[in-house]
Amino acid sequence: SGNTDRPALTLLIAAPRGFCAGVDRAIEIVERALEKYGAPVYVRHEIVHNRYVVEGLKAKGAVFVEELDEVPDDAPVVFSAHGVPKSVPAEAQRRKLLYVDATCPLVSKVHRQAERQIEKNQHIIFIGHAGHPEVIGTMGQVPEGSMTLVETIDDVAKLDFGPEDALSYLTQTTLSVDDTAEIVAALERRFPQILGPKAEDICYATSNRQAAVKQIAPASDLVLVIGAPNSSNSVRLVEVAERLGTDARLIQRASDIDPEWLVGVGTVGLTAGASAPEKLVREVVARLSEWREVEERTITAAEEKMVFKLPRQLTE
Ligand code: SF4
Repeated sequence: SGNTDRPALTLLIAAPRGFCAGVDRAIEIVERALEKYGAPVYVRHEIVHNRYVVEGLKAKGAVFVEELDEVPDDAPVVFSAHGVPKSVPAEAQRRKLLYVDATCPLVSKVHRQAERQIEKNQHIIFIGHAGHPEVIGTMGQVPEGSMTLVETIDDVAKLDFGPEDALSYLTQTTLSVDDTAEIVAALERRFPQILGPKAEDICYATSNRQAAVKQIAPASDLVLVIGAPNSSNSVRLVEVAERLGTDARLIQRASDIDPEWLVGVGTVGLTAGASAPEKLVREVVARLSEWREVEERTITAAEEKMVFKLPRQLTE
């Protein structure tokens, strides 16, 4: 724009960033359910962990609740992308509710692995973050007491199993690739008999977004991650940048950016968690451009072509 009183800022935009195939699918499920059944469509838990997405769906007639008992008998209900314990569809069936499951197929895959390991009489060590809905959902696939949660290497040291115990491990899909590798290594050192999943449970979207941050962070003075504080994969992106020695901030919207952060900063890295829409990325670019002469560069770590099918009940 030739406005010379704005100092230059190089903006390294990570690719891939933002929406993954599971989030795309979950949002489309709610939209299609609204079209097919009409408003209100209830959604159990935030469909994906993003306030902007949730507000947009609310405006179209979605009603967000935390538990099934808040859903009236005659209204359709969608389960969020994070997955639900088995007790939830069971209760929906008992109440004859019309429900649509938006659990990401990659989370469902972990659920089925858990069932298979239990069928083989194995005790499961689950690597994940306590309290996250995905963890609650996955632990709710198996009988109580048959899965033990570990969050850290310290937790591994505290496990009370012996060499005779049949053990296997599974992980949450949105963990830090590097931390998880260390926890798995600690598990394998303590329990050489432990069996793991055939393929990594951390999903392609989580690992690609972390790989992209690893490419932009070393060249950046500050990394901005667009995502919600309860979005596991977004918080991990902040950690990846910080571990490379780069200051990083989690922001929900452009208005969260404090101009003070940019003092002395020549290069900003920008990415977005799997539940953050691209519109919010453009909003951040526009905000930065108010203060600085921004030169955008996209740094691509991987190409993504993943698309998941919608549930048949919404396509027929
Ligand atoms: Fe599925 Fe991964 Fe997206 Fe979660 S982050 S919804 S597991 S693709």
